[in-house]
Amino acid sequence: MAFLRSAVRRMVSAVRSPPAPICRTSTRSYSSEPTREKGVPYEKTLKQQDQASTGPSKPLPRSADVVVIGGGSLGCQTIYHLAKMGVTNVVLLERDRLTAGTTWHTAGLLWQLRPSDVEVELLAHTRNVISKDLEEETGLHTGWIQNGGLFIASNKQRLDEYKRLMSLGKVYGIESHVLSPAETKDLYPLMNVDDLYGTLYVPKDGTMDPAGTCTTLTRAASARGATVIENCRVTGIQVRTDDLGVKRVKAVETPHGTIETPCVVNCAGVWATKLGEMAGVKVPLVAMHHAYVVTERIEGIKNMPNVRDHDASVYLRLQGDALSVGGYEHNPIFWDEFGGKPPRCFSVLYMCTLKEKHTTPCFFLFD
Ligand SMILES: Cc1cc2nc3c(=O)[nH]c(=O)nc-3n(C[C@H](O)[C@H](O)[C@H](O)COP(=O)(O)OP(=O)(O)OC[C@H]3O[C@@H](n4cnc5c(N)ncnc54)[C@H](O)[C@@H]3O)c2cc1C
Repeated sequence: MAFLRSAVRRMVSAVRSPPAPICRTSTRSYSSEPTREKGVPYEKTLKQQDQASTGPSKPLPRSADVVVIGGGSLGCQTIYHLAKMGVTNVVLLERDRLTAGTTWHTAGLLWQLRPSDVEVELLAHTRNVISKDLEEETGLHTGWIQNGGLFIASNKQRLDEYKRLMSLGKVYGIESHVLSPAETKDLYPLMNVDDLYGTLYVPKDGTMDPAGTCTTLTRAASARGATVIENCRVTGIQVRTDDLGVKRVKAVETPHGTIETPCVVNCAGVWATKLGEMAGVKVPLVAMHHAYVVTERIEGIKNMPNVRDHDASVYLRLQGDALSVGGYEHNPIFWDEFGGKPPRCFSVLYMCTLKEKHTTPCFFLFD
């Protein structure tokens, strides 16, 4: 965690008291209210509100055109887009509550400018959905906060890359500005800019609220006829071999009944491997631990953009009037439940990004 500490020190020069390395497993606050408590007040977790023992939230249908497994970001986006495309006989099964997997503690950072034009288009679509479409369709706010995004360049090569990103953004109509250190200081007065070459500022980047987004996505899908069932674990996937010798999905099994279906979408996040095994499919996904720290209240930080330093591999996410700071270790700890250390270093976040490209054209990306 040493690099996180030094990143906080470097980026924020006016913190009243040293940041407290506190939080790993508690839920995040998305309130814009001032943080009053001395410690980080995130005591309740969605896990503690677990109602798994109460049984499924709705009766299971006998059949469905599509069964989506997993009620995280990916599953909720999938059911929403299927319903919007007219596939309304679709059921989402979540073993716990919506967002109970990885999604509930995501930073939710959305950076529009990426080195790949496919990703730029996907992110533009996602941003439209969460900042405009969902609100128009449901009358509900997803919790999207447009506080902007700032990429830090601490060497010339990185600044050149950001200039190229700005050009790419122009093609796609994404407003961005390359700022000098002095201009960066004007925008973000708390930042120590002494060792910066410059920054790339994207005013319409922002922060997603995972709970608000998933709730709104499923509300919109349900309004079109889709069914979302929580507290319903998938325990098996029946497959059959068709006349051409091709394996096809036949049904999804749960402790509360079986749903006949020709199509399953595996959106089970880090558990996708297990789900895949149920159907005899190998899912190339590896999970690893990801740590972040949440600071105490920082005077003057409110409304500042999120910050990404690609060289230090660190992000600073605005959280009301505090920051959560996360990063990617060069020596990551893999989750043993999934078979120990793999030969290559993929994070689950990155793998989720790969997965998403194959399953749904609408989800937020991470690097
Ligand atoms: C600290 C942190 C910060 C992050 N920051 C960002 C960010 O800034 N930007 C970004 O784009 N991404 C970020 N990510 C990554 C992002 O959160 C994940 O990629 C995303 O949430 C994964 O969503 P998912 O739907 O694939 O998986 P999950 O949210 O894990 O959903 C899978 C669901 O499947 C359910 N499930 C599992 N097994 C079964 C079963 N047998 N039956 C029924 N249901 C089942 C689980 O209960 C779970 O709810 C971050 C992640 C972390 C941990």
